[in-house]
Amino acid sequence: MLISFIAFFLIGLILGSFLNVLIDRVPRGESIFGRSYCETCRSVLGWRDLIPVLSFASLFAKCRYCGAPLSYFYPVVEIVTGATFAGIYYFVWTNFQMTLIPSLLFYLVLSSSFVVIFFSDLRYGLIPDKIVFPTLAFVIVYISLFAKTDFVLSLLSAVGLFIFFFIIFLATRGKGIGLGDLKFSLLMGFSLGFPHTLVGIYLAFLTGGISAIILVLWGKKRLRKDTIPFGPFLVLGTLLSIFFGDMIVKASTRFFGI
Ligand SMILES: [Zn+2]
Repeated sequence: MLISFIAFFLIGLILGSFLNVLIDRVPRGESIFGRSYCETCRSVLGWRDLIPVLSFASLFAKCRYCGAPLSYFYPVVEIVTGATFAGIYYFVWTNFQMTLIPSLLFYLVLSSSFVVIFFSDLRYGLIPDKIVFPTLAFVIVYISLFAKTDFVLSLLSAVGLFIFFFIIFLATRGKGIGLGDLKFSLLMGFSLGFPHTLVGIYLAFLTGGISAIILVLWGKKRLRKDTIPFGPFLVLGTLLSIFFGDMIVKASTRFFGI
């Protein structure tokens, strides 16, 4: 169990460095093939520069060739992916209702896509179509073939959430909810189904609201002037709902006596 846990963390670290390539290149419309290079001096990176986390740490966050500072996003993405993979392994292992291999692969692919969306929106304020739509197709195929959840309920969750977001989109003229968030709502609804979509959206607004308050109090953002991307919180809400949705639904039905 512990060995597999560590193995999944390491696989996540390695995959995380590939996700860094996607985060760097997909929002800018660059090809994802071709060697990695330094953003400043354009030197092609060798294997010594590409070891997850360790290269970054041993180079003290500077390019080996030109000394330009490297973004802390790189090791953060790798560690987040590693931790998510380890968490998913644990989650699928302890969740007996699911067939192991398909659901393990499903959640690993889904969470990788979420990592890319999270950091693309954080860095560039953009949720790339090239990530959202293929993932949506992948989720729909998985749900129809393997999931024991009701397909119609997942479809209704996606459409319901989309309509809810579309109303906010119109009411705020695209400032509260962006076009990317609107597209992501379909992915969120389909991935979570009912009632987990409700939990996910609640957690997204909760974490988004708390972060906005912290940023305003901290003086990093001005009230009414700056916008904070909502995509990262939608991703966070979705992931938290996947992991803790069952627990939260059970606790709240007990609390409200439904
Ligand atoms: Zn360089």
